[in-house]
Amino acid sequence: MISNRSQSPHMGTRSIPVNRGRMNPSKLTAKQWNPRQLERVSRNQLALKVGRWEGGICFEIPFFVFVGKVRKPRALLIAGIHGDEYEGVAALHDFASQLHPDELCGTLTIVPISNPQAFYAGTRRNPVDCGDLNRLFPGDPKGTISERLAALLFHNLVTDNDAILSMHCWSKEAVSVPYVEYFDGKGRVGRESLAIAHAVGLDFLHPYRWEPGLLVAAASRAGIPSVEVEVGGLGSITDSGQRTYLAVIRRFLAYLGMLKKPSLSGQPVYASKIVDHISLRADHAGLFRSRVAVGQKVRKGSEIGIIHDLAGKRLEKVTAPCEGIVGILRVFASVLPGDQIAQLFWENSD
Ligand SMILES: [Zn+2]
Repeated sequence: MISNRSQSPHMGTRSIPVNRGRMNPSKLTAKQWNPRQLERVSRNQLALKVGRWEGGICFEIPFFVFVGKVRKPRALLIAGIHGDEYEGVAALHDFASQLHPDELCGTLTIVPISNPQAFYAGTRRNPVDCGDLNRLFPGDPKGTISERLAALLFHNLVTDNDAILSMHCWSKEAVSVPYVEYFDGKGRVGRESLAIAHAVGLDFLHPYRWEPGLLVAAASRAGIPSVEVEVGGLGSITDSGQRTYLAVIRRFLAYLGMLKKPSLSGQPVYASKIVDHISLRADHAGLFRSRVAVGQKVRKGSEIGIIHDLAGKRLEKVTAPCEGIVGILRVFASVLPGDQIAQLFWENSD
């Protein structure tokens, strides 16, 4: 929920002029706002005006900027890059309504829904051009609608930060254990990303050489330590997912020195494990019935699930090729060849 704008003398709103015409691509990379114009100890609700795209669709991206007692460090919390992932969105709404700028050191930008078209469609991809926004950063101001959206977000909200927490959950077909991906590199960005991944306090840490186009990949390449967290899935918002994400946010900000360290009392104890994964995919189209639960340990040869044809005849038994933990599990039962059934996590001691 977004708190009432008039509750605090520190709270301010700023409107940014709407571009009502056909979008001029040259304006998409121009800064629409200036964080240095925001007062110290202030909570600001703003919006990126995306304008009216071809087809007459008009939308904006709401975001919040909290300026604390000092302006640095600067961090970004961002969710809703995929339109069917909601745990991060709800956690950011709640966190933005709870946080007071008096508590904060630095400048914190919060973007709950960065892909409104995909959100309204309830789909991972943008329904207009089928673009996967999280494969298109840093974007192209002269490209497709999704490429232009990526450019708008990247140049207005991403580049001026010292660290980034990108909040995802698994798509609506599947569910994941809470885990954090970080940039697997030997330089400063890699070291700091690993330190942040430890600091957010989840059981599973997954190093990645991300493919180009992910927000965190583009941000890392721009020199900004970044992690991507996955919590839950199935298009749902759960109590446990919200508790997890709110704890992750507070630990992330405490690590950066922006918030006080959260009290450890009553907090679960985490045993951070560096993991790698293997992806299990369907060979057949049919009805998938899982035989395991997410988070369950399995042995080599354990049955993960079965696929039946339309008459109920078994087409395929999906088994674990190695010992591991079911990190991600498909729940949606209709599958096509190549669909991901599960990811098995295994501890990587390298
Ligand atoms: Zn996602």
